[in-house]
Formats: sequence, structure tokens, C-alpha cells
Amino acid sequence: MKGIDINIFSEIKQVCDSVNNIVIISHRNPDGDAIGSALGLYHVLNNMNKNATVIIPNDYPEFLRWLPGNESVIRFDNNKEFATEIIKNAELLFFLDFNDLSRISGVDEVVRDLKTPKVLIDHHPDPSDFTDFKVSTIDVSSTAELIFEFVSTCQMTHHIDKNSAECLFTGLLTDTVSFSVNAYRPSTFRTTGALLEKGINFDDIRNKVFNNYSEERTRLLGHCLLNKMVVMPESKAAYIVISTKDVYKFKFAKGDSEGFVNYPLSMKNITFSALFIEKKDHVKISFRSKEKVPVNEFAKLHFNGGGHLNAAGGEYFSTIDETVKKFEALLPEFMKKYV
Ligand code: 5GP
Ligand code: MN
Repeated sequence: MKGIDINIFSEIKQVCDSVNNIVIISHRNPDGDAIGSALGLYHVLNNMNKNATVIIPNDYPEFLRWLPGNESVIRFDNNKEFATEIIKNAELLFFLDFNDLSRISGVDEVVRDLKTPKVLIDHHPDPSDFTDFKVSTIDVSSTAELIFEFVSTCQMTHHIDKNSAECLFTGLLTDTVSFSVNAYRPSTFRTTGALLEKGINFDDIRNKVFNNYSEERTRLLGHCLLNKMVVMPESKAAYIVISTKDVYKFKFAKGDSEGFVNYPLSMKNITFSALFIEKKDHVKISFRSKEKVPVNEFAKLHFNGGGHLNAAGGEYFSTIDETVKKFEALLPEFMKKYV
């Protein structure tokens, strides 16, 4: 695999073999790849007779709660003492699907000074130096695919049971938005084939992940596209704003806006899309793009964020109006190079 020295996998495997208590940590506002890769690895480690625990900073959407092992996931935000003790007793820490400690808000303070061996497995650009082992490449669909690569390179594919395969496949499926984004590599399909051979049901998983929303969510999508989308043709951009009023009116639940930000990109000549969601004291922003438009740069420069070339996000501590005003003012200059 491009960008990865495969010897690192056997070094990580050696550390795994020598310990028992292992903690797997993923990023704040976990998405399908965060939870899928973490639980996928969790099942593999348990099948190796290790005592593995998944710890995440905060809650994740309903459409991921069916994943095998879901009930064992520990949220740091409402179990701080318990989670801290488990982390401190760990003999090995895995960090999955993020590239900087700032992405695990709260948990970073617990792990920062620990001498416990740390492993990063991730596919975001520019990872910071905070682990002893770093498996990082952007040349892969998802962290779940990288976990598969690790497990198969170490001849441990027999430890991927159906539960693990369902979790890893969900990570791969969500990060590629059902094979429509960043899904052009033969290795992604080889991994998919190997996971299908573990007996998972593709259609069933797709339905659980993408066709499992409430009526309100579907109507909110209609409302956003009809009434809340603003097109900026000179910048080849479009954006959607979800206000607190919309949140109440459509009984917004965590995860309900998943995928909304992709819709503007289905228009021809639109290569930049943004979604703003008004929160209590800040605005959560998602960015998506087509072609070579680096939304992660834009997110990092202006909205305390980051991510991938074509999929990024950020948080901005201001009012929704000020946030959108700032976005409208900055975008034309940023897009000059790409229109
Ligand atoms: P989403 O728009 O789905 O929340 O996030 C898309 C991608 O952007 C995520 O996979 C993650 O890589 C990145 N991302 C989202 N929010 C943030 C953020 O607040 N900070 C950073 N650094 N990256 C983010
Ligand atoms: Mn990912």
C-alpha cells in the first residue's frame, strides 16, 4: 500500500501480542468510519483473546447503533472517571480515524502524558506526532480499510468474524458514501470482496445506514434544498443553513443532516458545498468539494477545522449570521484559483 512501510504492521502486532488491556479511541462526533473501524478492530482483538475497549469523546447517530459491539462502547463525556481509569490501565492505545489530539476533546488530556505505547491508524493528511507508531496514508478509502490492511498483512484475517466485517464494511461504506466518493482504488474493492466473504449482507447494511431515517429528516432535507440553499455561481459554490428554528420544527436528531452537504455538488458547475448548523454557542460546519478544490485548507484557514481534500469540517464560535457572512466574504477569493 502506497505510503506505508508494511514492517510497521508486524511491529504493532508484536506489541499487541505482548499485552492484554487495549483501548481504542476515535474522534469527537464519531462518524461511520470512526465507529466502524474502532469496533471492527475491537472484535479482532477480542478474537485474539485480548481485553479491548472502545472509548469515544461523545455520542454518535442512531443509524450506527445497530453495529455489533455498540453496547460496549464507552462515551467519555458522560463516564469521565470510569473511562479515564480504563485508559490509564491500558497497556496499548489505538487512535483511529483522526490526525491530531485536538480531535478527541477531553480525552486528549488523559492520554497526552501517558507512557503507554500509542498507535495511530488514520487516513487524514498531515498527522501530528503524538504516537509511537504511525500508520497514515491518504491513499485509502477509509480507516476501516486500513484496519483490514493491518489485520490481513499480519495474517490475522481469520480473526475477522462476521461482526468485525460488518463494522469494517460500515466504515468503508460511509466514508465512500456508498462507493460514490473516493472509491476508485482496486484495493477498496478487494477489501470489500474479502469482507463480503465473511458472510455480511451488503443490502441489509446499506438499508440500515442510508435508508433508516425519520419522516421529519426527509422533510427537513426537502426544506433545506427548496428554501435554505444559496447558490454562489461565480464561486461555483452552494451552501445550506440549518437554524435552531429548523432544528425544532423538524425534530432534528443527531445524524439527521448526514449527507445533506453532498446534494449541492450534484448540480453541474458546483464544486464547493457547505452546510452550516446552528448550535447553542457555535456553528458546526461541513464542507465538501469536487475535483481539486481543497476544502480542508479552507476549513483549517478560516473555521478551526480540517479534514480531507474533498470532505472537511469545522466549528466556529459565533452567531450563525456572522459565520455565514464571514464565509460569503472569504469564499470568492479562495475559489478564484478553481473557477
Ligand atoms: P463532517 O462534515 O462529516 O462532519 O466531517 C467531514 C470530515 O471533516 C471528517 O471526516 C473529518 O475528517 C473532518 N472534520 C469534521 N469536523 C472537523 C473539525 O471540527 N476539525 C477537524 N480538524 N476536522 C474535522
Ligand atoms: Mn475516515
